[in-house]
Amino acid sequence: KKILLHVEGLKKYYPVRKGILGSKKEYVKAVDGVDFDVYEGEVIGIVGESGCGKSTTGMLISNLINKTSGKIIFDGKDISNYDNAQMRSVRKDIQMIFQDPYASLNPRMSVREIIAEPLKIHKLTSGKEETDKRVVELLKQVGLDSYHAPRYPHEFSGGQRQRIGIARALAVEPKLVIADEPVSALDVSIQSQVLNLMKDLKEKFNLTYIFIAHDLSVVEHISDRIGVMYLGNFAEVADKKELYKNPLHPYTQALLSAVPVPDPRAKKDRIILEGSIPSALNPPSGCKFHTRCNRAMERCKVEVPKKTVINEKHYVYCHLYDEKE
Ligand code: SF4
Ligand code: MG
Repeated sequence: KKILLHVEGLKKYYPVRKGILGSKKEYVKAVDGVDFDVYEGEVIGIVGESGCGKSTTGMLISNLINKTSGKIIFDGKDISNYDNAQMRSVRKDIQMIFQDPYASLNPRMSVREIIAEPLKIHKLTSGKEETDKRVVELLKQVGLDSYHAPRYPHEFSGGQRQRIGIARALAVEPKLVIADEPVSALDVSIQSQVLNLMKDLKEKFNLTYIFIAHDLSVVEHISDRIGVMYLGNFAEVADKKELYKNPLHPYTQALLSAVPVPDPRAKKDRIILEGSIPSALNPPSGCKFHTRCNRAMERCKVEVPKKTVINEKHYVYCHLYDEKE
């Protein structure tokens, strides 16, 4: 399978001034050296608690914010050091769907204008007639219709607004869609409708998604692979089935133990994580998870775990698996 996106050593550090007159500079390490690939036509779910850097990772890839360092290869091109002009062509190919459908749509624009905007920017249609036709086609693809086109965002429910956001993202036929918690602001009853729509569109147009969520149960249905993040790093990345069957990282094991299972006899013992996620400013030394890990060893406090490859699509960052080195 073709690798659409290759991310290597991706970092985002935010400087914070401390001490008398801000003389001391410290860094919030929001993303602290992330490696992963995205294969064409797959859905990779990225999961973690708030503050783990999953949204920042999405924004770095779509170039909404600048990275501190790292390598990004997209569709065969090294875009790591592209300037704004060079990024223009890439921006069309990487589209985002945002968490908050209330904030991400301009309230002064009609739905027609919202969806037509990217078509005009990227010169994908010519003339009003062709643009309107394409807008209606896109609305239908997301379960809306032509009579919605002249209306304004405030006239829609949250689920409908997210459908508009999806239509806008798909208008330019992107190669990669980064969806940052696209359903977490919606009522639970609406969430599965929007998830099913995204899954259908993915299959219909052979799309590739990075699907960001704070909850494993949200990405379970839609993902082919899942990456679990903790405090700016991946803990583990694996095929979905393998991750559920054979979670290796203690953090993944804890997250999975919290996912409700339909069969009560298959119930696993819930692993309760001690404490809350530490601050990304001065995070714990060694393995950042050691302060909450039920299997932490002495070396975990000092040594940063390296990537241990279990198989082609499963890797983990934990000292329990690198003992052979
Ligand atoms: Fe736990 Fe150590 Fe593995 Fe970190 S490296 S997850 S502290 S066992
Ligand atoms: Mg977020």
